[in-house]
Amino acid sequence: MFETTIAGSLPKPAWLAEPETLWAPWQHEGEALERAKKDAALVWLKEQEDAGIDIVTEGEQFRIHFVHGFLEHVGGIDWDLKTPMGIRDNRYVVDVPTVTSALSRTRPVHGAEAAFTRAHTSRKLKFTLPGPMTICDTIADAHYGRRADMAMAFADLLNQEARELEAAGVDVIQFDEPAFNVFMDDVNEWGVAALERAVEGLTCDTAVHICYGYGIEANISWKGTLGGEWRQYEGIFPALNASSIGQVSLECRGSHVPMSLIGLLPDKDVLVGAIDVATDQIETPEQVAETLKEASQYVDPARIRPCTNCGMAPLSRDVAAAKLRALGAGAVLARKSL
Ligand code: ZN
Repeated sequence: MFETTIAGSLPKPAWLAEPETLWAPWQHEGEALERAKKDAALVWLKEQEDAGIDIVTEGEQFRIHFVHGFLEHVGGIDWDLKTPMGIRDNRYVVDVPTVTSALSRTRPVHGAEAAFTRAHTSRKLKFTLPGPMTICDTIADAHYGRRADMAMAFADLLNQEARELEAAGVDVIQFDEPAFNVFMDDVNEWGVAALERAVEGLTCDTAVHICYGYGIEANISWKGTLGGEWRQYEGIFPALNASSIGQVSLECRGSHVPMSLIGLLPDKDVLVGAIDVATDQIETPEQVAETLKEASQYVDPARIRPCTNCGMAPLSRDVAAAKLRALGAGAVLARKSL
């Protein structure tokens, strides 16, 4: 009951990349960099285990960016051909690389990282990959012509990668789809279909993470425009509930999402975000338990997994570690009170 996990990313220690800076460049090169990444992953495995996190991750210590970490090893992308793109429906404009020919996976991307992490923990292991729709919202298309077609091509590559991660001993493969909260019509038209292609043939647990983004300025001002109640989930949950994806990871604590919306996911395991990543304030275990209790009114508690709202990459290391401990302690408290 209340098996704890996290959305995915954790801060990079200062020896690996500049702290509290999203997408900071590496502090090392070559072999020293590989060593530093592994050391960072080991630190976070220990922190998660000590905090009582049941399903752990490598904290995304091996990649700078959650999407580009995968795209770096995909053929068909011209990294020098930058196209300005209004990401997440024009929330912020970024010069992005461009797809110029048919996509292919040039080599396994995260397999060695997953194997290393698997060798160093006996807990259940989760690995995160970017979802097809979110990838398509992070890269320009000069080849496929339709976003849905490009998403399906990425889904095929993600599926190859996911099968290898499963073979490396990963227990849960999660696709991050923050774009699902922005393009709700597309989710229903092709977003869920692309996800289902990405998980085809997998026997491990599968998850999709749909949040309102890291606690960065562009996201905080966007959230200010969403009104008193955030009901984006309402438009996409029915399709997700009918899909083959096993778990749905959501933002709850500190958001304006009405908790009742999770009642639209009766057939899924629900990863309830009980830790707000947009504030340095540490939740108390009581507050975490309160969030879980509220969620239990709408979903069978046996299907609830206490989780963070989103990745904690931009936070300080100490804050993130304290939030992990609050999550673990809150779940213990919630188990007692049920
Ligand atoms: Zn997120």
